[in-house]
Amino acid sequence: MVIKSVNLETVCGITSRLPEHEKPEVAFAGKSNVGKSSLINGLMNRKSYARISATPGKTQTINFYNINDAMYLVDLPGYGYAKVSEKEKIQWGKLVERYLHGSPRLKAVFLLIDIRHVPSANDRMMYEWILDKGFQPIMILTKLDKLKRSQVQKQIKVVKEGLDLVPGTKVIPFSSVTKQGRDEIWEVIEACTEL
Ligand code: GDP
Repeated sequence: MVIKSVNLETVCGITSRLPEHEKPEVAFAGKSNVGKSSLINGLMNRKSYARISATPGKTQTINFYNINDAMYLVDLPGYGYAKVSEKEKIQWGKLVERYLHGSPRLKAVFLLIDIRHVPSANDRMMYEWILDKGFQPIMILTKLDKLKRSQVQKQIKVVKEGLDLVPGTKVIPFSSVTKQGRDEIWEVIEACTEL
């Protein structure tokens, strides 16, 4: 994908209406601090357009990035941040539920997991939830540069087993430092949005 323009067009909070438009969307979910903003910035060729969280988990919004006036990258709020209150957790659930349930143009959901970690209970819940909504998540294993090359296959297996991934699920290791994986992610996005 040649990035000609990016525009954070809509920031949707708990009480906001979801945007109405005709363009395809792909969404990104993951635990706070997993590297979601860094991934989205990397996909858009921007250094810090999507926020890089100083206080992870603090902003509960869904952010719609218009790419080339052709499609949207949708940044779902991160989960699993310990200091979030019960009320905020419930609001997070309502917001994400409303989006996953109500967006007819959503073509794919990417779920991010840190390649070094065993998936958490929250990651498993998110994975199951996305499946329940009728999407087979595409897995992005972040922070690839932090792992020795010899460990990569082993960690992919840890994630596959930890989430009990549906056979055939796409798993793409990614580093926002080296940009390894970026082209493959765009290929998947282009294929599912038919761009
Ligand atoms: P978010 O909370 O999921 O949006 O995560 P951020 O993108 O804000 O990243 C959280 C922290 O991890 C930041 O300090 C990033 O610089 C760092 N980080 C994110 N992706 C990578 C990566 O691929 N490699 C390395 N080494 N650090 C990363």
